[in-house]
Amino acid sequence: MAGAATEAGAAEHAAQDAVVPGSHPRAESLRMRHRLVRGFEDGLVAAEGLLAHGRGEALDYLLGEETGGAARQACRAAAAALCSSDRPVISVNGNAAALCAGQLVSLAECTGSALEVNLFYDSPGRRGAIAGRLRRHGAKRVLGLDPERMAVLHGTDSARRMVDRDGIFAADTVVVPLEDGDRTAALKRAGKTVITFDLNPLSRTAQAADISIIDNITRAISVLLEECRDLAGEDGGDGRSGRGGGAKPTAAARIARNFDNEGNLAQAVRQITGNLGRLQGMRAAASGGDGAAATAATAPAAITAHGPRPE
Ligand code: ATP
Ligand code: MG
Repeated sequence: MAGAATEAGAAEHAAQDAVVPGSHPRAESLRMRHRLVRGFEDGLVAAEGLLAHGRGEALDYLLGEETGGAARQACRAAAAALCSSDRPVISVNGNAAALCAGQLVSLAECTGSALEVNLFYDSPGRRGAIAGRLRRHGAKRVLGLDPERMAVLHGTDSARRMVDRDGIFAADTVVVPLEDGDRTAALKRAGKTVITFDLNPLSRTAQAADISIIDNITRAISVLLEECRDLAGEDGGDGRSGRGGGAKPTAAARIARNFDNEGNLAQAVRQITGNLGRLQGMRAAASGGDGAAATAATAPAAITAHGPRPE
């Protein structure tokens, strides 16, 4: 019976996707919404998670819905940090699992990271559903499920303070996609290197993290994976080959250490202001003003129709 319901849900989901023509300018964005709604129906995503996605969508719009040069550089630094860490952990919430569970599992495998479920709107049912999704995508071990193994991360009052003793509690580097600012600050105070995916360069999370990838997780996760495979000598390797004292970890550690998050965030903000400047120019032109002059005055040189191209 449950299997039949799941099949019916999958069919309905496929039908929703089919409604969106591939030529629709925001087809991928609409498919993302479908994935989240389905994640909500399957018990992975909290209702509030749908709203959080909306906040992200607005920022994605301003970023031009593409991976800019700043995000690519941040992915390179994040890969370097992960490949040179001893105990990396990827924290997974409902939105992240609904959007890209398979790629999160691949990232964990490639970098030797643990996967831990950690939720703001917590419940055993949601934890179980997210762990189930990760396992279906090949995760062998998922942390954050055993109440006996939990410890308190001081400095935050939300449910996210409960972390796995073998996971985030003992980690040196933590990837926190779509995170709340409180816990990011608490993780920093606990001495962790924090990597985040966040569409908002102004969020407390983006500002507090060591490496903030300002991009939609659905796009940037592939870039990060590529960078990790590259750094770990993954052209056929197992992701651990680059770890453990060779030349690559040293080079990787240097790339991570030299990363300037503040400068990178400023570059992401320029991506947004560049797009806004372009629109300002279009408005000025429409109202008979000197659109070209307005654009030149407000936008950096390399603005294209969808924001700056990757460098
Ligand atoms: P902060 O607590 O860090 O100040 P916030 O309170 O504005 O952030 P939260 O709801 O705590 O926002 O966290 C959700 C964050 O996730 C938002 O910054 C939003 O931009 C980001 N986000 C939502 N969807 C995505 C996505 N698909 N990819 C990357 N980031 C996303
Ligand atoms: Mg928040």
